[in-house]
This record gives sequence, structure tokens and C-alpha cells, in this order.
Amino acid sequence: MSQTIFVFGCTGQDGSLICQSLLKKKFKVIGFSRKSDPNRNNHELLGISKDFEIHQIDFKNPKVIKKAIDRFHPSEIYNLGAQSSVGKSYVEVSETLESIVNATVNILQSSKEVQYDGKIFFAGSGEIYGETNLAAKRSTPPNPQSPYGIAKACCLNYVKFYREVYKLNCVSGILFNHESILRSDQFVTKKIIKNALKCLKNKNHKLKVGNIDIARDWGWADEYVEAMQIITRSKILKDQIICTGTLTKLKDFIQITFEKLGLKWEDYVEIDKKLFRRSEISRNFGNPIQLKQELGWESRLKISQIIENMINHEIIFCKDNINSTH
Ligand code: NAP
Repeated sequence: MSQTIFVFGCTGQDGSLICQSLLKKKFKVIGFSRKSDPNRNNHELLGISKDFEIHQIDFKNPKVIKKAIDRFHPSEIYNLGAQSSVGKSYVEVSETLESIVNATVNILQSSKEVQYDGKIFFAGSGEIYGETNLAAKRSTPPNPQSPYGIAKACCLNYVKFYREVYKLNCVSGILFNHESILRSDQFVTKKIIKNALKCLKNKNHKLKVGNIDIARDWGWADEYVEAMQIITRSKILKDQIICTGTLTKLKDFIQITFEKLGLKWEDYVEIDKKLFRRSEISRNFGNPIQLKQELGWESRLKISQIIENMINHEIIFCKDNINSTH
């Protein structure tokens, strides 16, 4: 079996981190992007931009997916591409559906048609569970509350269907929120860190946020891309929940961030009702026990260290944000 691995969505946060991890393990990586001139900023930041090539791919066209699999015979395929913002999914409903469901179905069907016998990993989401009073397990019934969550729930069923009916070696990792130094600006965690640093520089600056009473299960993406590989390489393919099991309120995320910079968060944060979501999930968290018991993986980094890493990165790489370090 070839040791070439495909990464669909290779320019994003997880795509870039898994490429880095695979390259370190000496796999030959081939990345795929929708764009003819993909954004390689994340790869440059990780120092891997010269280490693998990126091919343009149209996920609406099964023919090109089949051609790529036939040509390179990858041993593993990671599908990490998606319109990945829950907030944006309320506005860009069709694009969310197309990038998540249609792309997944086309990859599954193309793989079936070329009788692909390697492994395929799909990035699912904890958003499929919606409100979680108890930590979500594999057996928890999906109850998505956003177009993004609905699309991811649909994909989970498709992956299971192709695995059970067509015996394709495909599996989903149901990922709860995870951050890294590559997190893009459209996500609230990065917004908090960037704005807290602006507050340090300018005492009149304000951070505008929506509902700060929501709580999420935030992990570290560098660890999650290792979990993806463990799940994909396991002998028996079983969908797995990738999470920390710990809930943190957004208010606490903000407080920890400002405290690390020596600031009192209440002096800088403004609640903006316009930023509240239509169907806000107040608690969304998973139960990590099945993945630990079945495959031995568990998250390590705690929320305080995650925030510290993100702040340190922002200070080093975005010096225009701040004159002094904390
Ligand atoms: P990301 O940083 O937003 O990257 C996703 C990549 O998908 C982009 O770089 C883009 O690459 C590609 N893409 C394909 N269709 C797109 C579209 N319509 N709009 C925007 N980008 C599109 O996402 P990530 O955080 O790495 O997440 C990886 C996967 O895990 C996604 O499937 C996401 O839904 C899932 N997930 C992530 C989290 C999290 O907290 N990060 C949690 C649960 C699930 P090109 O432009 O080069 O094609």
C-alpha cells in the first residue's frame, strides 16, 4: 500500500496541522484546495509550504475525485474541508450544505466507484448534538440547532451508510471545538484574544461580544489531528467523539484572557444583542471516555494553556497589535 496521503481542505486550521503531523511522520502528503491559487499562509507559519504540493479540486465533480484517487492510490484520505463557521451557516445555508454534504457524498460515491480500499476520515462536529445537558456520547441522539449542525449530522449518516452497506473503510471523528495558533479571525476565541491585546494597547478599546453565558468544550487542535489519525488507523473503524469533556463558559474564556494580560475584563467588554444567535446552544460538550477506553487517546491541554498559547502566538506574530508583551 502506498504511503501517500490526501488531505482535502489542507489550507485550513486542521488541514494545515495534519499535513505538518503527517510530514513529520514521513508520509508523502498531497493537499487539495478549491482554489487555483490556494492561501498558504498557515503552511508558511508552520514552515511546511515547500514540503508538499497542492492540487486544485472541484468537489462538485466526482470525475476529478475519482481521477485523483486512481492516479495516486492514497493509503488514507482526510476530508477536513468545509464552510466551518456555525455563525456563517445561518446566512450561507446553501454553501454550507454544498461544502459539507455534497462534498462528502461525492467523495464517498467516487471512492466506492473506483473500489478504493484505503481509509477515509471525515470531520464531523459536536454541533450535531445541539444542547447537551449531559456530555454527548456516540449513543446520544443528534439534535442540531444550526444549518451547519444539520449538514454535519447528515454526513455522519452517509459515512455510516457507506461503511455498513458498501464496506468502504470510512469513519467520522465527531469533533468538539478546538483551537490553535492558526484559528481564523472569524471565530470568537481569536476575536477575544486579538481584541484583548488591542485593549492592552488602547485603554478605550472595547470588545463587543454576544451571549457570554454559553459554554463550550474547547480543546487543542494539534492534539485533535493526532486523534484523527488514531481513529483512521484503528483496526475496527468506529465513529468517535473527540473532545475534552470539560465545559468552559465564554465569560470565563474572556476573564482568563484579560487576566493573563493584567486587565479587568469588565472594563473592556460590551454585550451586543445583535451578536446573539437565533438558536443559541447554551452548553455543548462531549464525553471523551469511549475514545480513551477504545483507542487510548485523551486530550491534554487545559483551557488556560490553550489561551496562553494563542496569546503568545498573537504577540509574536502580530506585533502591530501590541507594543509591549505581558
Ligand atoms: P477551517 O480552518 O475553516 O478550514 C476549512 C477549509 O475548508 C478551508 O481552508 C477551505 O480550504 C475549505 N473549504 C471548502 N469549502 C469551503 C467553503 N465553502 N467555505 C470555506 N472554506 C471551505 O476549518 P477547520 O477548523 O480546520 O475544521 C476542519 C474540519 O473540522 C471542518 O470540516 C470543520 O467543520 C470541522 N470541525 C472543526 C471544529 C473546530 O473547532 N475547528 C469543530 C468541529 C468540526 P480551501 O479554500 O483551500 O478550499
